[in-house]
Amino acid sequence: MTIGDTILEMLKEEISEVEYNRYVKQMSFLSKASRSDLAVFEVPNPLIASWIKNRYASKIAHLFEIKTGTGREVNIRVKKAKGVAGKSGPAATVAPSEGPKHSMLNPAYTFENFVAGSSNQFAYAAAKSVSERPGQVYNPLFIYGGVGLGKTHLMQAIGNVMLLQGKTVVYTSVEQFVNDFTRHLRNQTMDRFKEKYRQCDLLLIDDVQFLSNKIQTQEEFFHTFETLRSEGKQIVLTSDKPPKRIAGLEARLQSRFEWGLVADIQPPELETKIAIIKKKCEINRVILGDDVVNYIATVIDNNTREIEGILSKLHAYSQLMHQEITLDFAKNALREQLQEKSDNISIDGIMKTIAKELNVKPSEIRSKSRSRNIVAARRVAIYLARELTPMSMPQIAQYFGMKDHSTVSHTMKKIHQLLEEDENFKVKINELHNKITAMPPETV
Ligand code: ADP
Ligand code: MG
Repeated sequence: MTIGDTILEMLKEEISEVEYNRYVKQMSFLSKASRSDLAVFEVPNPLIASWIKNRYASKIAHLFEIKTGTGREVNIRVKKAKGVAGKSGPAATVAPSEGPKHSMLNPAYTFENFVAGSSNQFAYAAAKSVSERPGQVYNPLFIYGGVGLGKTHLMQAIGNVMLLQGKTVVYTSVEQFVNDFTRHLRNQTMDRFKEKYRQCDLLLIDDVQFLSNKIQTQEEFFHTFETLRSEGKQIVLTSDKPPKRIAGLEARLQSRFEWGLVADIQPPELETKIAIIKKKCEINRVILGDDVVNYIATVIDNNTREIEGILSKLHAYSQLMHQEITLDFAKNALREQLQEKSDNISIDGIMKTIAKELNVKPSEIRSKSRSRNIVAARRVAIYLARELTPMSMPQIAQYFGMKDHSTVSHTMKKIHQLLEEDENFKVKINELHNKITAMPPETV
């Protein structure tokens, strides 16, 4: 048995049998392609690949660490279709999404694969013209909007165009930028840092709201920005909010972010959602009737990220059951997934996760203790209970032994305010949120 097989056996213990049979069983470990710091698995199609990546990749990495004492990067590959000659289909392009280095572009994030509709038309047109005349029209291009609305996709589409022309493209996150900076500083290799970030033709920085309150990074970023821009090199930035609303952003950076063009993306209307689902079906080679597509479009909320997970589930189900994906079939298959969001997350599950992550006891969270870390944990628990379960404010108040729901409502206001003001707090809450929602329902 290879180490990879051992890990898959261990994973079996951790997840439900249904999930194991549906997804994990289809994975095979590629020992030849793996290294001591890299574990490569192969799966039959891109949908299963994205599903496994989202749900299990970090778990698998963790199991490797437990078993071998060293962490590993986990790579999920799609098996090449046999007998499909000629140009490689889109299947192969879905797998290599954001690697841990964030320097690679996702080849599937192209303009052709992007659906333009009234909600994103402006940003789309701006990105398109930047790709045609980089450094000349809008520099920087600043795209902002909510989660899953296609900011990263659009920004990388510009990168993919320029990459094809042989230009040097750097795609990075604020986090990666900071990591690179500190590493090169420590190793006294700042020349290499400058070479990487100041000698490219196109610099893409994703989610710059994370520059919030990072003074030293902003300083370094400012110089990078100035150098590139003075040489006519294109810069593209994304954020979840416009420059003036990024708290703790130096005035000089804010004004520079506004120098070029600031374009927003709004949540998609139903029509655009439908078109996006159809596009994703085409890319992932899933065939769905219009009724099923319309159904999915109405049940998902605005975050388009969900679509791939849903398609992956439908596809896997239909293969397993040897059935076509009819509307009834889709409703059945998705019932679980759609309810999971609300019904299957219980307040006890939320308490367990928060207690573990914040290092307090569930009983302490429910107690009347006023010590700081417990109060903080209690607030977060109240907030997430309200967000993730169908519980009403009075029900939550009762659960925490409060007289009435005014404390709950006050807490909600407080947390919303903190989320607006404090980027780091937001990251923490998101992490907890994801930990809770990513758990298989039976453990929550
Ligand atoms: P953001 O960076 O804004 O959070 P992403 O660019 O990561 O969002 O998009 C999330 C997913 O939704 C990606 O798979 C992306 O391809 C898809 N997506 C979002 N908007 C569109 C669109 N207009 N057309 C096609 N795919 C889209
Ligand atoms: Mg993004």
